[in-house]
Amino acid sequence: MQSYVGRFAPSPSGPLHFGSLVCALVSFLHARQAHGKWLVRIEDVDTTRIQDGAADIILSQLQAHGMQWDDQIVYQTQRQRAYQSALEELIQQKAVYACECTRQAIKAKGKFYTGTCRELALPFLGNSIRVINNGEQASFEDLHLGKVQVDIDFCTEDLSIRRKDGLFAYNFAVVIDDIFQQVTHVVRGADLIDTTMQQNYLYKLFKMPCVSYFHLPVICNETFKKLSKQNHAEAVDNQFAAQNLLKAFELIGLLSPELSEEMSVSSLVDWAVKHWSPKLLAKQREILLSGTNAV
Ligand code: GLU
Repeated sequence: MQSYVGRFAPSPSGPLHFGSLVCALVSFLHARQAHGKWLVRIEDVDTTRIQDGAADIILSQLQAHGMQWDDQIVYQTQRQRAYQSALEELIQQKAVYACECTRQAIKAKGKFYTGTCRELALPFLGNSIRVINNGEQASFEDLHLGKVQVDIDFCTEDLSIRRKDGLFAYNFAVVIDDIFQQVTHVVRGADLIDTTMQQNYLYKLFKMPCVSYFHLPVICNETFKKLSKQNHAEAVDNQFAAQNLLKAFELIGLLSPELSEEMSVSSLVDWAVKHWSPKLLAKQREILLSGTNAV
């Protein structure tokens, strides 16, 4: 088994914006510095959120910015049988149950789902499916942030792994896929910290070693809103790849007079692979874009 397998796993709900470019870059640099593999997985499991053509645009953006992946791209829409057989394994283990609660009903009772349907033995068909979560841990050791504490009620919530409409949930698909692709290191935005312990619990159920996590700060605009497709963050423009990379380098602590916009994308990326260190990156959950580095 390869000692380092990293991955970038974008959801194709739109093209990459600057925040997701920075995330791709850090995960790429971390993998390349470890002489590991860097995989790309298109997380299109939630087919209701896919934007037509976005997956291809994302791939072209990665290539235009000098980030070439290893192996074949995995698309979650082609992994339904794997999710189904993993679900059957959990049914065999009696680790799951059907739940008929609507989002509104759960919200009306409080912030988290409290296991209302656990003992009801409802049919799986037409209901969502939840994992009986007996986890007790509310913290994990992050490669970048050190010890990270997560809300215990969230960590121990019976997580939904298949929705009522039959779509598998992100938390489930991401773990099944990382196991399948033998991923060892997950470098991703700190906005996903809260899901980590729930994903961790799934590794335990499948008796598989958990990946190592590296959460990097998410890039926010002046109003402290994460740059995201929902906030209409602009797509990164391949025509300005060198400038985009230099802006991204600045945010991750890679500033040097040696660098210029005249350099080719591949020489910029090669330079970054040589010089980047996680120590240069702020140990915080957010980085605010402002003034000169605003996009
Ligand atoms: N697909 C998720 C996203 O685009 C990332 C999942 C992950 O890296 O674990 O936010």
